[in-house]
Amino acid sequence: MGESIHVPLAALFPGASFSGASAKGNAPASSLGGLRGGRTFYIETFGCQMNEHDSEKVAGVLLRRGYRQVASPDEAGLVFYNTCSIREKAAQKVFSRLGEFNPKNNSGRDSGKVIGVLGCVAQQEGEQIFERAPWVSLVCGSASYRKLPLLLARLEAGERRVTGLETDTDETFETELTRRDHPFRAYLTIIEGCDKACSYCVVPYTRGPERSRASDSILREVRELAEVGYTEIQLLGQTVNSYRDPSNRHLTFSELLLAVAEIPGIRRVRFLTSHPRDLGGDIVAAIDASPALCDHVHLPVQAGSTRVLRAMQRTYTREEYLEKIGLIRRARRPISITTDIIVGFPGESEQDFEETLSLLEAAQFDGAFSFQYSPRPHTPAAVMADPVPESEKLRRLQALQERQRAIQLRRNQGLVGEVFEVLVEGASRRETQWTGRTSSNRVLNFTSSRTDLLGEYLRVRVTGAGPNSLTGEESIE
Ligand code: SF4
Repeated sequence: MGESIHVPLAALFPGASFSGASAKGNAPASSLGGLRGGRTFYIETFGCQMNEHDSEKVAGVLLRRGYRQVASPDEAGLVFYNTCSIREKAAQKVFSRLGEFNPKNNSGRDSGKVIGVLGCVAQQEGEQIFERAPWVSLVCGSASYRKLPLLLARLEAGERRVTGLETDTDETFETELTRRDHPFRAYLTIIEGCDKACSYCVVPYTRGPERSRASDSILREVRELAEVGYTEIQLLGQTVNSYRDPSNRHLTFSELLLAVAEIPGIRRVRFLTSHPRDLGGDIVAAIDASPALCDHVHLPVQAGSTRVLRAMQRTYTREEYLEKIGLIRRARRPISITTDIIVGFPGESEQDFEETLSLLEAAQFDGAFSFQYSPRPHTPAAVMADPVPESEKLRRLQALQERQRAIQLRRNQGLVGEVFEVLVEGASRRETQWTGRTSSNRVLNFTSSRTDLLGEYLRVRVTGAGPNSLTGEESIE
């Protein structure tokens, strides 16, 4: 399957430090061009890794059609925003971007460009986007990306407005060409959509039902990626561990993990995001069995009170979640655990919040992404009674983050003196300073007298610890 364009590191980050993948238009600058002229495009991505990877695939579709990627909207004939609606702020940002192209204002942006909105906001708002921003020409949700070549052809033929908004599909979005942004880490979507029904979440509405990709096709692409030099694979899905192989092989998720990890040249395999209900002992056993499977699990809990978890329709209790944590902690390899937490869900009492704080202590997370609840359209929680005041949400968020920071600091300090293998991901301007990532997904900033280390795997001794990162020096023993 998919051919993958490998972008040389030097072209992407000339003399700069690097700290992760980005899909924000990074080809060399070019002259202006429209659809019928230079056929240039710019794509900006909001939100999660799934969106980042979707943008890589959309870029592949455009390159196949003869478009060239440029570094800013000003240079592009075609401007795409791949959007996120998981939180209100992210959705608002997109409309402010679109406003820059309003022909009535004096922003200096060329209103003759073709503007497209992709992703979750596209699905959520649908044709209303044309009403709010009549200068938009394409609105396409992620479940309809298979139709992008067709939609583009219609635009090229002169149609003014096209949409792709169906979600009742059993197809996944695979492309013949993916324009990958990162030189040694490759994202691969293995399952799209979501069949869970968390009451606060817009994803089942915007991304449609769960569709898994056949294991043969996944393994073939990983082999091709390994052949062109990728060493780290990140398997993606909204609920990645709910993967069900639709092919005759019927691989389980843990069998798929092991099969990917066995492919020659692959040094690291990560997976994101896991749903606690589908996290079984077989996944932990696979991590124990294969050093290439990274010792890290991201397991969103969202709340520490069973009452709130029920209202969220998370399908597990506090106790069941902590049993999963116990399962992971009992592995032979130490496995780091990170999570997502929402504070201020409608009806969350002080007592409920205290239970979330006590869950932090019980679980001892190595990292947590925490957010204030914001109601999303089309979700049951948006109309729930008893909203928590904004000021109280903020207070809870700050209290939670402070507690979690202290836990992370303590856990990281316990690693001082240990030696870890890191994948070198960035260099600071001082040439002896490097940034790497451990298998457990910790950032480790370290010194080495050597040069040209990007993409290398090195052993580094930890000499210091903060709540969010470690410091160290290359170990030459
Ligand atoms: S599991 Fe819940 S939070 Fe995650 S994508 Fe599905 S509905 Fe949303």
